[in-house]
Amino acid sequence: MKIQGGCLCRGIRYEISGPLTDVGNCHCSMCRRFHGAAFGTYAKVGAEHFRWLAGQDLLSVYETRPGIGWAFCRVCGSSLGIPAGGKLAEITMGTLDADPGVRPTEHTFVGSKAGWFEITDGLPQHAERPTGKTQ
Ligand SMILES: [Zn+2]
Ligand SMILES: [Zn+2]
Repeated sequence: MKIQGGCLCRGIRYEISGPLTDVGNCHCSMCRRFHGAAFGTYAKVGAEHFRWLAGQDLLSVYETRPGIGWAFCRVCGSSLGIPAGGKLAEITMGTLDADPGVRPTEHTFVGSKAGWFEITDGLPQHAERPTGKTQ
């Protein structure tokens, strides 16, 4: 599987060459603000399956704690994901060019959910994050 993605201004481009896993919708207050939306949808990608194609120098990271942050394009503001080791450990599904085939399997931080948004699917809902997860 190879799939590309990137930001709104197309300055930042990346390529995924392996499976996307742990797809989830995060409703926490930080993700809501980061995305300007009811929730953010993230997927994990192995470091060996992620590479930048262009614009890595345009990537900015907003850190809430040292080493914990959100990556975005400093030109257009697109939310790109969770950085780790100079790559993205989790990508925002909305920045993918095409449908990767995987689907969200859960809602996290539903305890912080926007009151104006109603979850209408049957996926498991977690008040915070399921045990064993870091984001
Ligand atoms: Zn951009
Ligand atoms: Zn979140």
